[in-house]
Amino acid sequence: MTGGNQDDQGGAPGGDRDEAYMLLAIEQARLAAEEGEVPIGAVIVSDGRVIARGRNRRESRRDPTAHAEMEAIRQTIGQFASWRVERAALYVTLEPCPMCAGAIVQSRIDRVVYGCADPKAGAAATLYSLLSDPRLNHRCEVRAGVLEDQCRELLRSFFRARRASPSDGGRGE
Ligand SMILES: [Zn+2]
Repeated sequence: MTGGNQDDQGGAPGGDRDEAYMLLAIEQARLAAEEGEVPIGAVIVSDGRVIARGRNRRESRRDPTAHAEMEAIRQTIGQFASWRVERAALYVTLEPCPMCAGAIVQSRIDRVVYGCADPKAGAAATLYSLLSDPRLNHRCEVRAGVLEDQCRELLRSFFRARRASPSDGGRGE
């Protein structure tokens, strides 16, 4: 992905490009599943370049904040002149939770694209709309439902397999 165009945070919807980046997020989610983690993946794109990748590592790190988006945002540290993640779009397979939506707003990411909605924790549209709340001092452009079926199926098959395996103590989501 070269070319350095500046359309990633706006302009034409560019559906194909969104799907291409979402596929990279799905790749991260698959890696998480292989590691026994709930399959959620994210990438951050700036100026047409993938600058960070993240996947859920809550179990392996024993860290409740080790969500895919947090890992990706942390990977941007040092890549910009300040703490702002400039001209960037974040792609994530599952709608961000309140913690991640908060971190996205704090990092001033311009645009968020997600796959499937999260009825239990979604903070981009489902339960809260933190990314576009006019009372906050930063708002993101949000696009939902990109490769939604693929993103949801990853989660479904992961939980289906986990329920089928009695060795795992059924640790909650
Ligand atoms: Zn989160």
